[in-house]
Amino acid sequence: MAKIGMKTPLVETDGDEMTRILWQDIKELLILPYVDLKTEYYDLGLAHRDETGDAVTVESALATKKYGVAVKCATITPNVQRMSEYNLREMWKSPNGTIRRILDGTVFRAPIVVEGIRSYIPTWKKPIVLARHAYGDVYAAVDEAVPAGSKAYLVIEDGAGKEVSRRLVHDFQGSDGVVQGMHNRGDSIRSFAHACFRYALDEKIPMIFATKDTISKVYDGAFKRIFAEVYEEYEKAFEAAGIWYLYTLIDDAVARVVRSEGGLLWACKNYDGDVMSDMVATAYGSLGMMTSVLVSPDGKYEYEAAHGTVTRHYYKYLKGEKTSTNSVATIFAWTGALKKRGELDGLEDLKAFAARLERATIQTIEAGEMTGDLVPLFHREGVTPKKLDSKEFLLAVQSRLS
Ligand code: NAP
Ligand code: MG
Repeated sequence: MAKIGMKTPLVETDGDEMTRILWQDIKELLILPYVDLKTEYYDLGLAHRDETGDAVTVESALATKKYGVAVKCATITPNVQRMSEYNLREMWKSPNGTIRRILDGTVFRAPIVVEGIRSYIPTWKKPIVLARHAYGDVYAAVDEAVPAGSKAYLVIEDGAGKEVSRRLVHDFQGSDGVVQGMHNRGDSIRSFAHACFRYALDEKIPMIFATKDTISKVYDGAFKRIFAEVYEEYEKAFEAAGIWYLYTLIDDAVARVVRSEGGLLWACKNYDGDVMSDMVATAYGSLGMMTSVLVSPDGKYEYEAAHGTVTRHYYKYLKGEKTSTNSVATIFAWTGALKKRGELDGLEDLKAFAARLERATIQTIEAGEMTGDLVPLFHREGVTPKKLDSKEFLLAVQSRLS
């Protein structure tokens, strides 16, 4: 059988530990036999990041800017313990953080929905995609403890250092307390809005965005206003695609999302996204079934699994033990990237292949063949779930694909 051709290379960024092992196997068993794969390869494994003084991370992000589509393996973010484990020269920053800064992107997380794996919220039949604004607010705030009797002010100076306003935050009469100053930027909120509207249009799903502008009139009011302004550019395209955009209050959004059957994009401010992404991920079951894509405002895409390098399984693997590590989110990172590449280059058979691989993966699980993390979550009449090891699962998908 002739292999499916490609035009533009994918940016392939390899990673660490158990996911690095899965990465090789996925390529070997599920991609290379069928696709004449073109990639520009960057090794973001921790050892190579250390050797290159982390230049390889920056180079991979620049390549993504150039080619437009990347697929990324999970990578270690070094901490003190990793310093000695890998004998590092420096405690390198999180690769995802570095890449996000260069691409100025927004991260969208979506669960892979499979018949038989019930969500903890039974009405959720379709995926809920969560977009988190990953800039500012409480994550970049300054705070202070304030002794009793002090006063705290919010002071604004203009570019020349001249005070233009001074407002009392609180007069701490009779008790000590705490105070916090946080910020956001118009350009960042605007990029976030563009990325969300673009994603909803790409995926043809409706979108909800919420803040608490009734309480936070200026701060959250700015988010509401900027989203409304940006939406004007997308309104016609949304109507043509038969999808809607709703702005509401965060409490109302939570109620609507819980009552919904899924199938929507939920755009969240930074803190709401932090909390709600864990809620949504947990409700859908396993971390191994959660995909993630970074979308830049100028339409560059980087696909990955939402989980990490699954260190605990890797240590077992190093001892020669078999692991049952879920490769589904990593497979879907590949199919997401191949699909997008096919779309941008007008390659129908590449898009069709990616869709077939996704179907084969889902059908394998629906037929009862899965990794250990899914077994306790699986309930389907007439099907007894069978636990496969990491390699056996990939082989089961392959036999369905062939
Ligand atoms: P993790 O790799 O996501 O794993 C945490 C636990 O979740 C695992 O021990 C496992 O539970 C379960 N799990 C996650 N993915 C799974 C899968 N595909 N199949 C089966 N079980 C899965 O998080 P971590 O252990 O906190 O972090 C490990 C390393 O990953 C760290 O060095 C961190 O810096 C890095 N990390 C990278 C990214 C990224 O590159 N995007 C994201 C997060 C973390 P059981 O052990 O109970 O089986
Ligand atoms: Mg969180």
